[in-house]
Amino acid sequence: MPVKVETYDRVEEAARALSASRSARFLGGGTLVMRAVNAGDQSFDTIIRLRDPDFRTIRMQGDGLVIGAGVTMAALVANRDAAFLATVARVIGGPAIRNMATVGGNLFASGNYGDLAVALLALGATVQLAGSGSRSMPIDEFLRDRDRDRHATSLVQSVTVPRPRDPAAFRFTKVSRVKPKGVSLMSIAALLPQSGGRVQGARVAYGAMGPTPLRAIAVERALEGQALDAAAIDRAAALAVEGIAPPTDALASSWYRAEVAGVHLKRLLAGERR
Ligand SMILES: Cc1cc2nc3c(=O)[nH]c(=O)nc-3n(C[C@H](O)[C@H](O)[C@H](O)COP(=O)(O)OP(=O)(O)OC[C@H]3O[C@@H](n4cnc5c(N)ncnc54)[C@H](O)[C@@H]3O)c2cc1C
Repeated sequence: MPVKVETYDRVEEAARALSASRSARFLGGGTLVMRAVNAGDQSFDTIIRLRDPDFRTIRMQGDGLVIGAGVTMAALVANRDAAFLATVARVIGGPAIRNMATVGGNLFASGNYGDLAVALLALGATVQLAGSGSRSMPIDEFLRDRDRDRHATSLVQSVTVPRPRDPAAFRFTKVSRVKPKGVSLMSIAALLPQSGGRVQGARVAYGAMGPTPLRAIAVERALEGQALDAAAIDRAAALAVEGIAPPTDALASSWYRAEVAGVHLKRLLAGERR
């Protein structure tokens, strides 16, 4: 089946075209979309492209950073204001993938992908959708509803990320079988702001531990109000998979993921990995 490509200059036009057709897909960097085209995916027949330069910019807004959905991982690594995200963007694929893969596309990547989305979830980002239903929503809500129909036709314009006051409060680790370019067996991101030597407002997120990136709520509760010492870290790590049913896939079984999650979480909380 031939695939038609439509190119727009303005985000509103692209959003309108995307929402008007169930058989259209937006093209970010194309690392996944073009793979689907090459594999003969018949579920879409139109590709929507956007040339709006704003879509590829990163700008400060108050205490946060507004990152256009078309910003690539390579651009994120190179941006000084986004330095706290460089640790994450740098471990996504190899150089060729990072030069193409976008922030918007990562929000939709499933399975062992979506490392940046995990970090954005821990950081409490907000997702801005374009078009007639233009609105902002917490990333938790966006990811929860992502695979329902209504998001398949929504264009993500940007994400707004609160910058951690203390860069050491944000930590990320990616566990993979192959270094440096392997995909995630699991990824863990944690935001651990402290006040008076105690954790206040912990957010901990996993990737490849469910259908979408998800929060480790039991871990967050165990850390809240605690000094980040060995005893608190042990208690939190013991709850690593509380309420979570890790998947089995080609990289690891559910059992294995459940066994090792606490080990990796403990190392991350102890500051042994960043
Ligand atoms: C070899 C290889 C290695 C990889 N390694 C990693 C890795 O280590 N970590 C990782 O996280 N990912 C990895 N990926 C997956 C992928 O490259 C990234 O997740 C990337 O960020 C996806 O972005 P993209 O712009 O290429 O998405 P695209 O392929 O352009 O799009 C992916 C999906 O998102 C939709 N989409 C894209 N942008 C928008 C938008 N703004 N609004 C609405 N919908 C949109 C598309 O329609 C499509 O459904 C890898 C992929 C490959 C092929």
